[in-house]
Amino acid sequence: MTVFSSNDFDDHETVLFFRDPETGLKAIIAIHDTTLGPALGGTRMWNYANEDEALTDVLRLSRGMTYKSALAGLNLGGGKSVIIGNSRTDKSEALFEAFGRAVDRLNGSYIAAEDVGTSVPDLESARRTTPHIAGISEGGAGDPSPATAWGVYNGVLAAARYRLNVETLSGLTVAVQGLGNVGYGLCQHLSEAGAKLIVTDIYDKSVEKAVQELGATAVTPDQILSQDVDILAPCALGAVLNDITIPDLKTNVIAGAANNQLAEERHGQVLMDRNILYAPDYAINAGGIILISHEGPNFNRSTAMNEVAHIHDTVTKIFQRASMENRPTQEIADQIAFERITAAKNPDKITKTG
Ligand code: NAD
Repeated sequence: MTVFSSNDFDDHETVLFFRDPETGLKAIIAIHDTTLGPALGGTRMWNYANEDEALTDVLRLSRGMTYKSALAGLNLGGGKSVIIGNSRTDKSEALFEAFGRAVDRLNGSYIAAEDVGTSVPDLESARRTTPHIAGISEGGAGDPSPATAWGVYNGVLAAARYRLNVETLSGLTVAVQGLGNVGYGLCQHLSEAGAKLIVTDIYDKSVEKAVQELGATAVTPDQILSQDVDILAPCALGAVLNDITIPDLKTNVIAGAANNQLAEERHGQVLMDRNILYAPDYAINAGGIILISHEGPNFNRSTAMNEVAHIHDTVTKIFQRASMENRPTQEIADQIAFERITAAKNPDKITKTG
C-alpha cells in the first residue's frame, strides 16, 4: 500500500491508521484540509475487498468533503473515516468506543458523523469516548436526511426557475430515482409544491407508499432515467450519468441527492452539449452538513433549515457563472470551492488583488 504516491493523494494533511485487536477495529481517518475549520465528515463502514480500496475511498471522500463544505460557505474542513468490516456482522458497541478513542487522539481536528454502514446509535457509542462526534440525537441535530431533502428541493426549484422559466414547480413532472431517506422526503416537498411525480425504487413498499400517499406514478428501475420529464432527480446511486444512460435522457434538468452522479468528469461536458442543466451533486446535497454545522449549545433547527434553503442561491450562482464562462456546472462548483480555500490561505494576496 502506498499513500504519498497514490493517485488519490492530494496533499492530505493527515492520514492515520488505527487498529484495536480486542474489538477488531481497523480504521483509517483522512484529514484533507483544515484551512476553513475542523475537518467534518462521515464514518463509512464497508467490507472493502482490500486495504488499498479502503485507502482510496477515504482519500477521495475526505477531499470531496473539503470542497462540499467550502462551497456551502461553512467554516469546516474536509475529512472522512472508514472502518474496514461488514456493517451487518462486525459491529459492536465496543468497536465504536474504540473508534471514538481513535477520533479523540486528533483533538478535534476531525469530527466524525454517520455515513454508509454506520448509524446514529453507532456514533452514540463513539461519543462515550470522544466529544468530537456530530449528527447524534442527544445534544445534536440527529438524522441529517430531512435537511438534505429540503436542500435538494430548493436546488430543484432553483434549477427549474433558471432553465424552465417558471416561478414554482406546480404542474412540472419530476422523475425521482430512489425513495430512501432523502428521495422520499424530496417527493413530499415536490408533491406539496404541486409537481407530478414519476418514481422508482428496488423496494416495492416505498414505491407503493409514494403512489398511495403522494399520487405518484410508478415505473420500474430500468425505466426511470429515460422518462420524458421536466426534471430528473437521481437519489439512489452514483455513476448514473454515463455513456449508456445520457443518450437516452429526456429531461431538461438533472437535480438530485445522489453522490457522484457523473460516472466521469467528462460527462458534465456531455450533458452541457446536450443542453441538459446539471445541478452539481455536492452543491445540492449539502443540506445535511449545513444542519450539522449548526450543532452546539445554541442549536436552532429552524435557523439551520433557513440556511439550508440558501442552496437555492448557491446553485443559481453556479448556473449563471457556468453560462457566462461556457463551462460545465460541476467545474464551476469546484472552482468556487477552490477559490474560497485559496482566499483563506492567502488573505493578503486576495485583499491586494481585490
Ligand atoms: P437510502 O439508502 O435511504 O436510499 C436509497 C434508496 O435508493 C433506497 O430506497 C434503495 O432501495 C434505492 N435504490 C438502490 N438502488 C436502486 C436502483 N437501482 N434503482 C432505484 N432505487 C434504488 O439513502 P439516502 O440517505 O436517501 O441517500 C440517497 C443518496 O443521497 C445517496 O447517494 C447518498 O449518498 C446521497 N446523500 C445522502 C445524504 C443524507 O443526508 N442522507 C446526504 C448527502 C448525499
